[in-house]
Amino acid sequence: MTRRTVSILGSTGSIGTSTLDLIERDPEAFEVVALTAQRDAEGLARAAIRTNAHLAVIGDPDCHDALRKALAGTGIATAAGEGAIVAAAELDADWTMAAIVGTAGLCPTMAALRRGRTVALANKESLVSAGALMTDAAKANGATLLPVDSEHNAVFQCFPHDDASRVRKIVLTASGGPFRDTSIEQMRRITPAEAVRHPNWSMGAKISVDSATLMNKGLELIEANHLFPVGHQRLGVLVHPQSVVHALVEMIDGSVIAQLGTPDMRTPIAHTLAWPDRMGTPCTALDLARIGRLEFEEPDLARFPALGLAIAAMAAGGARPAVLNAANEVAVAAFLAGRVAFLDIASIVDQVLSRYDPPAPRSVEDVLAVDREARGHAARAAELQAA
Ligand code: NAD
Ligand code: MG
Repeated sequence: MTRRTVSILGSTGSIGTSTLDLIERDPEAFEVVALTAQRDAEGLARAAIRTNAHLAVIGDPDCHDALRKALAGTGIATAAGEGAIVAAAELDADWTMAAIVGTAGLCPTMAALRRGRTVALANKESLVSAGALMTDAAKANGATLLPVDSEHNAVFQCFPHDDASRVRKIVLTASGGPFRDTSIEQMRRITPAEAVRHPNWSMGAKISVDSATLMNKGLELIEANHLFPVGHQRLGVLVHPQSVVHALVEMIDGSVIAQLGTPDMRTPIAHTLAWPDRMGTPCTALDLARIGRLEFEEPDLARFPALGLAIAAMAAGGARPAVLNAANEVAVAAFLAGRVAFLDIASIVDQVLSRYDPPAPRSVEDVLAVDREARGHAARAAELQAA
């Protein structure tokens, strides 16, 4: 591989640190342009020093002093604020990791796409909300959008990119999360600590809760619908507790092509870092004889209503996915803060979807307006639920 310039948006998170782990193993191969974070000035500064980054940007301006102090005398430039994160995404880099959580990542990811280089997309919420606006921006600017989400990265590796009409079905697998076998009765008492304890993957708090409600798989269906446009009726989900098979692509002749691997996000991240080449990783090799059994079952939409809400939003299209996503972000934050119960998450999303049905957004500004409005509805629904 020739030396490449890279930026990481959301560098202190779970995906961000896994990305740093890979690029720090080969300092000759990567030159770091910009690293961003929201509040963890210390973590950001340490990563910037280790990688000799040109620029470190902190989203929360109150943390700028701490960042400046931590980087004094290093020659690494600093900046702060939402606009500075977008400006960092606008700096030229061959490869950008979009790993901010939530629609907060939308404007920075769009800025990176407009540069027409490679964007590795982990930030699924921005694609769910902005949908075709994002894939169109990639096309119009000649950017390459590579999916980092393990299931989508798996589909990308199996998909016949030259002729999508060869595909009969795409199946994303779901581990089922920590409550795969939990009864509705027990689900009423789930605590945030229990919900973020995922059996197979180690991830940020928000996506861990999404995995526990199966909203994550719903967001992923919407994500797949934009990345692999074979029609939403051809997208499906299978619960697969071992998280070894990440996705399956069924061809019209009956052949099914799947991608397998140990559940370690460094594998899909490495795939996007080296693409179209391959690079080595420190990931444990897949040992199927030790695992022994691979199991699959249909998801239970009665115990996991969030998945059904997402499927309906995907089928309806327009602004529905943006409303679903914004309401879910607010509901998950309220659950993590201990203000509403686990089962309230899907119920809040459902209430917002039935109260707020705006026309399809035509621009990123429209998406941001829908996102704001849906958050307002969700905050009110969460307050009522908490009362
Ligand atoms: P995380 O919470 O661990 O990290 C989030 C990062 O975004 C941090 O660097 C944080 O500082 C930054 N951030 C948070 N709020 C911000 C804001 N308002 N403005 C700017 N930056 C902000 O999350 P994560 O688990 O690394 O997930 C990141 C994204 O990747 C999410 O969209 C998630 O759905 C997706 N994803 C994660 C995994 C995983 O294994 N963790 C797998 C697939 C997809
Ligand atoms: Mg995933």
